[in-house]
Amino acid sequence: MNPETEYREGLDQLAAHYHAVLRLLGEDPGRDGLQKTPMRVAKAMQVLTRGYAQNPHKVLTDALFEEKYNQMVIVKDIDFFSMCEHHMLPFYGKVHVAYIPNGYITGLSKIARVVDIFSHRLQVQERLTQQIKDCIQDTLKPMGVMVVVEAKHMCMQMRGVEKQNSITTTSDFSGAFNQAKTREEFMNLLRGESKRI
Ligand SMILES: [Zn+2]
Repeated sequence: MNPETEYREGLDQLAAHYHAVLRLLGEDPGRDGLQKTPMRVAKAMQVLTRGYAQNPHKVLTDALFEEKYNQMVIVKDIDFFSMCEHHMLPFYGKVHVAYIPNGYITGLSKIARVVDIFSHRLQVQERLTQQIKDCIQDTLKPMGVMVVVEAKHMCMQMRGVEKQNSITTTSDFSGAFNQAKTREEFMNLLRGESKRI
């Protein structure tokens, strides 16, 4: 799907609802600046939730390569943008992934694709973290996988719920990463030159 040109079913209905939302918020949907807004928002929301129409498992199973390499593979600083399912406001930041192959590796860009697909659905950060881990675990079947997500949540920052600029960190892991030493190795490599979001 090309998000710029192809939209899913229900686009017109979605736009009609946003037309009503504008009125309910106290706006005049008929004024010049807002005339095309309901359709623009509908299209934007379909792009931001395009992950529902995409299959992250297939992305990985289509790009499996047999390889004897069995040291830690790290893909860090993958940018992501998602929306929290509680307020439908953005949260965004970086995802770091490590896995220890068990006969198969995948293209590094495919890991970023998996992050992109899961983040383009309504999410909570904890589930996003777990889904990325599970997807890699289920397809590559590595010795272990660990995922760390660092994010800023607009629903906290814009509503003044939490200190501005606070960063929420979540992590999930499997297999070899159950050993503290293995997790430490990954975390040390992350701390190295990782940029803050
Ligand atoms: Zn929220």
